[in-house]
Amino acid sequence: MDTKYVFVTGGVTSSLGKGIISASLAKLLQRRGYRVTIQKFDPYLNVDPGTMNPYEHGECYVTDDGAETDLDLGHYERFLNLPTSQANNVTTGRVYQTVIENEREGKYLGKTVQIIPHVTDEIQRRMKILGNSGEYDIVITELGGTVGDIESLPYVESVRQLKRKLGADDSVVIHLTLIPYLSAAGELKTKPTQHSVQKLLEAGVQPDILVCRTEHKLTTEVRKKISLFCNVNQNAVIESIDVETIYDVPLMMEKEKLDKVVLAKLRMPTSSEANLENWKNFLFKLKHPKNEVNIGLIGKYVELPDAYKSINEAFIHAGAENECKINLSHLSSENITSSNVKERLKDLDGVLVAPGFGDRGIEGKITTIKYLREHKIPFFGICLGMQCAVIEFARNVVGLTKAHSTEMAKTSHPVIDLMDSQKEVSKKGGTMRLGAYKCKLEKGSRSFTAYGKQVISERHRHRYEFNNEYLHDFETNGMMATGINPDNNLVEVVEIPNHPWFVGVQYHPELKSTVDEPHPLFVRFVKAAIENNVKK
Ligand code: GLN
Repeated sequence: MDTKYVFVTGGVTSSLGKGIISASLAKLLQRRGYRVTIQKFDPYLNVDPGTMNPYEHGECYVTDDGAETDLDLGHYERFLNLPTSQANNVTTGRVYQTVIENEREGKYLGKTVQIIPHVTDEIQRRMKILGNSGEYDIVITELGGTVGDIESLPYVESVRQLKRKLGADDSVVIHLTLIPYLSAAGELKTKPTQHSVQKLLEAGVQPDILVCRTEHKLTTEVRKKISLFCNVNQNAVIESIDVETIYDVPLMMEKEKLDKVVLAKLRMPTSSEANLENWKNFLFKLKHPKNEVNIGLIGKYVELPDAYKSINEAFIHAGAENECKINLSHLSSENITSSNVKERLKDLDGVLVAPGFGDRGIEGKITTIKYLREHKIPFFGICLGMQCAVIEFARNVVGLTKAHSTEMAKTSHPVIDLMDSQKEVSKKGGTMRLGAYKCKLEKGSRSFTAYGKQVISERHRHRYEFNNEYLHDFETNGMMATGINPDNNLVEVVEIPNHPWFVGVQYHPELKSTVDEPHPLFVRFVKAAIENNVKK
């Protein structure tokens, strides 16, 4: 059977939850036994989001193969429990880069290079890469941006062309729109949706299904009206009402029969039902916690929760696993000093110090870690958070008072230093240590206990590392390197055994936590926070 394609576009406004709808549909199809993947096409000119400030774009999600990608890929992995790769995220920058390289190589044989056909051909080639691998029955393609944006046009045009080239039953277009409620009139309004569908029609694309984001239930009248004006069947008008958690969305889409409507359009069998038992168990535990803990996330992008998306989600998974409600408070490290640290942390049962770049807020992180270490409060450091734990230990325990990371300052004690492989690098895009690397854990360590195995693989995104020249001094003073990269000896995990739970990791465990497999370090850290809470 040929691969079938589902295209997901958005209209009216951004932030309607295209990524979550795509992931939820994929989950339902996967649970019916189909092999599904999701890819995201982003209309901006950056080659990847790796060079963007988190305030611009939220977290940068890293895949096993080292691609720096859109945070929606995180949702895809968390929902499907399957890895994604570079092929799952394409940007206009990447498309143009290939087209311009082709032009320089003379591949266009003297032709004028144009958006149609050259750019749209390249977009379509990329839309089909995963489908052509033979590994998937269905490929869901989410188009970033909103229909009608100048940047989105080549993508909508590519969908139009590809739809024509594929067989009549081989593709389906889902359009996400907003049905606003005017409280003064007491009415749901369909006009923005009508206009948005008209925009798609102007570009030659008739949507097959409309997923309507709404704060109130869609009445039959409203459904009929949308169906009539937008030229879609009434059963293809899908209600997407606001829910408590994004993890409710697959069940809501199941009730609305989104998967059935999609499969019917693609003429694929719907005989077997989606088995969502695991998912329902997870939701039950999430909504019926037996415990409650307060965890602090100390970072510098705290105004924008999307900057730490995967960490927030990993806590949701680990909370459910522990049947524990997690009250996660985001605290800005810039506001923490030695005179207020006690007050700031007083209600917290555990603290995670976040990843990050640059020196803003760094001393607040170090002050926080000193307090956690001395007061035996569970600490979890990720990437920069782990590096700060190393600096703190060097300064306050080993006695290297000037210790620092060379990312922040010139120092006589560079306990965190640039990796050799980074010393010649001057360009910023895609040049960090990226993607999955192996790590060997010390038997008996907390991390080993958590993972339950010795060799693990985790994803990285950093330039600096623990400076092994200081390893001996650290270990004799009580901070142990319990995880080492077996190929190059880089320190990947540090722990203080003489502390209830003090673990710092150079990699990003949050990127691998899923509903089906909550990350073991998050699960153990939450457990330690629960134990600390019970003691208090
Ligand atoms: N800025 C640090 C480095 O580049 C840490 C990076 C991170 O936290 N992702 O090594």
